[in-house]
Amino acid sequence: MTISGCLRKMRVSHGADDAVDYTLELCKPGSKTDEVTATLPMNALLSREIRLRPSGKIFCVNCGKGTKKSFSDGYCWRCFSTLAETDMCVMKPHTCHFDKGTCRDPDWGLKHCFQEHALYLARSSGLKVGITRGTQVPTRFIDQGASEALIIGLFPSRKEVGEAEFAISHEMSDKTNWKRMLVNETCDTPFDQCLAHARSLLTPSQQEHLLPSGRLLRFAYPHLSWPSKISNSFNFDKSPLIHSPLIGIRGQYLIFEAGVLNIRSQSGYEVEIEVE
Ligand SMILES: [Zn+2]
Repeated sequence: MTISGCLRKMRVSHGADDAVDYTLELCKPGSKTDEVTATLPMNALLSREIRLRPSGKIFCVNCGKGTKKSFSDGYCWRCFSTLAETDMCVMKPHTCHFDKGTCRDPDWGLKHCFQEHALYLARSSGLKVGITRGTQVPTRFIDQGASEALIIGLFPSRKEVGEAEFAISHEMSDKTNWKRMLVNETCDTPFDQCLAHARSLLTPSQQEHLLPSGRLLRFAYPHLSWPSKISNSFNFDKSPLIHSPLIGIRGQYLIFEAGVLNIRSQSGYEVEIEVE
């Protein structure tokens, strides 16, 4: 079976048994509306030999135009430098500048940033603190490859949750070490221990947004075995072909016997996929 089209971040779902299910979708090159041309249920492909061949073309995930280089996971330069969703304040929510009247797209800002956001602790490589829009629960945790996530607070806007995260991040990581995450190396520090400390770093008014008891989510990722180390990370700028059995999926990574591929970072790349 051979399919082709432009890559997008894999779609994920979270079953009642905590199992994570992945679907890879390919979009029509040049399509502005993310018109899906092929769908691949990925969990069923474990142990199968997969061939991924990039065409060398990249199509912006927003405007659909061809671009020589991909910025911030699949945008052309024009979109990357003008859209609100690729502004630095999305990465660093405490730097939200909406109230200064300088939001790149105030309508987008009103719709996406002024709604309920969750503050959470997650166990991916180590324990980390993070934030996400309420509608992105549990997708965000899965995209990071977390084995557990504890929602500890709900805030009315992205800036407010971002300020709480920023206060905690002085003493707790807000990053995932992806190599450790992919070999399933994790710490077993109980959430409770960190939660008390995190709480103490917040102001009384920030503490008012914390939940009396957190909401715990667990995630089990499809895999045959975890790699013992990550010796090779593919990307289509340097790898003209990937041809290897799939042994696992975690976060937005496909884990092949021959190395790993971050699908999210390859969004917009046109590829041909053959399952043997
Ligand atoms: Zn574009």
